[in-house]
Amino acid sequence: MSPPAFESGIIDDGGDNSRAGQPGNSAPKVIPMAARKIVVVEDEEPIRRGVIDALEFAGYDAVEAADGEAGLAAARSSDADLVLLDLALPKMDGFDVLAALRRTHPTLPVIILTARGSEDDRVRGLKLGADDYVVKPFSAREMLARVEAVLRRCPDRPHPIQSIASGGQTIDLSRSEVRFVDGGVAVLSEMETEILRYLATNADHVISRDELLARVWGIDDQHLETRAVDMHITRLRNKLDPPGSDAKVEWIKTVRGKGYMLGNGIAVTRRDVSKERS
Ligand code: CA
Repeated sequence: MSPPAFESGIIDDGGDNSRAGQPGNSAPKVIPMAARKIVVVEDEEPIRRGVIDALEFAGYDAVEAADGEAGLAAARSSDADLVLLDLALPKMDGFDVLAALRRTHPTLPVIILTARGSEDDRVRGLKLGADDYVVKPFSAREMLARVEAVLRRCPDRPHPIQSIASGGQTIDLSRSEVRFVDGGVAVLSEMETEILRYLATNADHVISRDELLARVWGIDDQHLETRAVDMHITRLRNKLDPPGSDAKVEWIKTVRGKGYMLGNGIAVTRRDVSKERS
């Protein structure tokens, strides 16, 4: 007996209740890749709940969003390893979320959730860069198999940047925090975190203002708002300087006529996903 709304999305496997069961079930917990983080963007609460429960039961760390805007923000800010993305969503539909996400996170695995029979949606989603799709209604077992397969196919994805550090000062990008030598802490905005993450991810390259606009802001209109980039960088540099101290680190280097890059001698620490597998 499953609730009616549940049947429109994720369905019970029948014979394999141990995978879809609630935490606290007496069956042994299956943990294929502990602590891999999956963002679930789905507006229908029963389906979202079912997907989250199945993911968490399988040992994943699940983050949920009930509309497109929240989903895009969650996927961008949470160090996600994979996104499960419904297409018909309030505020911003799944296609727009996928297109925006591809500009800032070109290699982040995305599986779209499509309705039965909507071949056009699947093709459009795959063309926009989705890695795979699951057709509703789907079973927990099928959804988990797709997630595992896509994560297996993407082993070469560079591990997400955890933090950057220099001179005893650490910028924790997963927490959007600057920790100064004297113990003080400053909080970075989402945009500031993404600027530093992009520069650190491409640490050996000069990044043009246009590229920052396209990759961090998601703006493709070139030569329009490059001054906004400069203003953000100036504000960000001020925030990274320890208050009341002259011990300044050049976190962001200006390359005249070309753009910006991560400063020299800054240690970049990536999250080692492989060590999290159990
Ligand atoms: Ca929907």
